[in-house]
Amino acid sequence: MLKHLLADFDAWLGAGPLGSLPLLPGLLKTVAAALFSPLTEVTSLHAWWLVAIDLVLIAGLFFLVQRPGAPQGQPGDFLGFCFPRRILTHPSTRTDLKLYFVGAVVSPLTRLFWRFNAILVAGVLLQGLIALAGPAPRVLTWGWGSGLIVAFAIAIGRDLGFYACHLAHHRIPALWAFHKVHHSAEVMTPLAAKRNHPVELALIPPCDAMGTALILAPVLYLFATPPSPIELFGVSLVTVVFAALGAHLYHSHIWLVWPAWLQRLILCPAQHHIHHSSAPRHHDKNMANMFTFWDWLFGTLYIAPKTREAFRLGVYGAAVQLHPGVLAAYLVPFADAARAVRPWLPAPLRPRLGAWADALESRCNDRLGPGSPVGAESRSAAAS
Ligand SMILES: [Zn+2]
Ligand SMILES: [Zn+2]
Repeated sequence: MLKHLLADFDAWLGAGPLGSLPLLPGLLKTVAAALFSPLTEVTSLHAWWLVAIDLVLIAGLFFLVQRPGAPQGQPGDFLGFCFPRRILTHPSTRTDLKLYFVGAVVSPLTRLFWRFNAILVAGVLLQGLIALAGPAPRVLTWGWGSGLIVAFAIAIGRDLGFYACHLAHHRIPALWAFHKVHHSAEVMTPLAAKRNHPVELALIPPCDAMGTALILAPVLYLFATPPSPIELFGVSLVTVVFAALGAHLYHSHIWLVWPAWLQRLILCPAQHHIHHSSAPRHHDKNMANMFTFWDWLFGTLYIAPKTREAFRLGVYGAAVQLHPGVLAAYLVPFADAARAVRPWLPAPLRPRLGAWADALESRCNDRLGPGSPVGAESRSAAAS
């Protein structure tokens, strides 16, 4: 139904006077698709059937085996094991749900931005290669083997871009202010994967694009034609492989853990739980999105034990929920970021920026009611 509506909108754009303008129809189509995306994503098969397969197969196998450390499992209660009531009704999950709808609008726009950036940066790198090594030979042709290798190489390059961006979000206080929204989840559900501030969502694609371009440029230099994506039922093969390895369950309550040797290559859900831990020993660990050898290489790898370690999920250094609702999740990061950049600004601007940050926080407190934790706790966490 929604897809038909979008198709009608496309046809109307093409037939109308706007169709004669070169860039505007494409832009309007993208915005329309983005506005509908919270609903079309739910109804499309692209991601949700993978989540369903993951949940039923992986969680089902785990339930049958009843590994030590598996929480929530009552013998014979498979649905209760997969969808525990305590986690589904948790206030943190309600905030995730609200943030999901805004994220679903922002994400398609930023994905478009990623493609544009990847092509742009690859073009610049290609010109550099030509300047260094001479004209592009473009002698290679595509086969199944080369297609597969390049598909995974591009995923590895993209993951390096993500790793660098994620590390920057943890180490640079002004960026951590925004990434903290993802870490303020108190329970793990697949919705928590979408618990991101729009500023972070806008910054990740250019970084992913730079990592992708590192692989794409030599490929364009050597091959006669650009690579075409290898898909299975309309989904990228790399995505299918990682879904089968539990990527859609990084944010689930189940402590799924791979053997230690495999954890040095590929991220498992338990390792991402560690990433969300508020315990000091887990600070800034397991930053990669898929390939943990980036963590291994740069010293941020933490191997998850077979049995779940005892720790609380949340922002390290914060004793209370810093983003108790959508308003705080969107606005408080701007106040935290303003305080983080304040020392770098000219002296006359600093008091005004500080006053603006305080006013923004007190506005959040007024809306959230008396006793709201936003403010002092937020400042102490930002400083940690
Ligand atoms: Zn993080
Ligand atoms: Zn996460």
